[in-house]
Amino acid sequence: MTKSIYAPLLKWSQSHYQLLPWRKNRSLYGTLVSEIMLQQTTVGTVLNHYDKFLKRFPTIQSLAKASEEELAVEWKGLGYYRRAKNLKNCAIEVTQKFKGEIPLERDVLLSIKGIGDYTADAILAIGANQRAIAVDANLERVLARLYAVKTPKGLKLQKELRELFHQKKILKDVASKDYRAINEALMDLGRVYCQARKAHCELCPMNTHCLSFKLKKPLSFPVQDQNKEKKKTVEHELHLLRLVIRKKDQVLVYKKNNQEWLSEQWELPTLVISSTDKKLQQYPMLESNFDFQEDLIVKTGITKYKITNYIHEENLSLHKLKTLGFGRVCEFQTITEKANFSTTTFKVLKQLENKKKK
Ligand code: SF4
Repeated sequence: MTKSIYAPLLKWSQSHYQLLPWRKNRSLYGTLVSEIMLQQTTVGTVLNHYDKFLKRFPTIQSLAKASEEELAVEWKGLGYYRRAKNLKNCAIEVTQKFKGEIPLERDVLLSIKGIGDYTADAILAIGANQRAIAVDANLERVLARLYAVKTPKGLKLQKELRELFHQKKILKDVASKDYRAINEALMDLGRVYCQARKAHCELCPMNTHCLSFKLKKPLSFPVQDQNKEKKKTVEHELHLLRLVIRKKDQVLVYKKNNQEWLSEQWELPTLVISSTDKKLQQYPMLESNFDFQEDLIVKTGITKYKITNYIHEENLSLHKLKTLGFGRVCEFQTITEKANFSTTTFKVLKQLENKKKK
């Protein structure tokens, strides 16, 4: 048992250890995949996708060879498709330049497109149990509190924590066998006791060493940047017309491009009826008067938009679609679970089917 001040934390962590799938069968590739999935996505969502993704792409070489379509299907539900593209680009680079072996030098890792400070450190610390500290939002908060670091929250603080670690000013007496364990224990501590809005210091295994606790102000760390204006999230109302045009067991859809939400996914021809966001460019405006009776109304949401989808089924011609303002290239795709349709498209088709059964 290590004698460091982190011994109680590591001991506590063993009893609260979350046996997540990427912690069960450890590999550098698995760490890369899970860390990229976990950026901007909750653990719960990643849990629903990780095993399936690894089954479909069991090696970095298989991921490097994946087509856009295959990747988009497996990534669906994880959001921010750009991360999937980054992940694939990493896989291609590692396969071509490093014979499929993820390198373990920090500088080399950082030279790979799509790998930033956090991912490089996570691969080293969590994947390879090497001396590194993967400063995500949890570690940023926990370490800022443990050491009462006054640098304002954000990239500057994350950089400072990494530097303090490399200069052995923080976490200095962690044993070399415990690099992975300390990273995961700090992440777990941030999840269980040292939360953003509440710190359960009386239960925390680090409370005898925690400087912010000694100062009696744990929630004052990390310090908020006073110069940074708090961004107000403005919500927008969006009313969309979604057109269902069928041919036997197929439906007319178009592919979303890289500049749009749900990139690479197929979606029903969609037009904006009204929007409180005048800058919205995701869909064309409904141009001409179109006297339609909706078959269904479906409520959805994406980022800051509350969306009311008016579903109308009618066998309109492509020419008619154009006159309404929808000029994108469309094609008929078979309706199957495997199709890379957007979640809303699936939802709409399912609800129409249920309605017809009634
Ligand atoms: S003592 Fe409190 S502030 Fe310090 S690490 Fe523990 S929970 Fe966080």
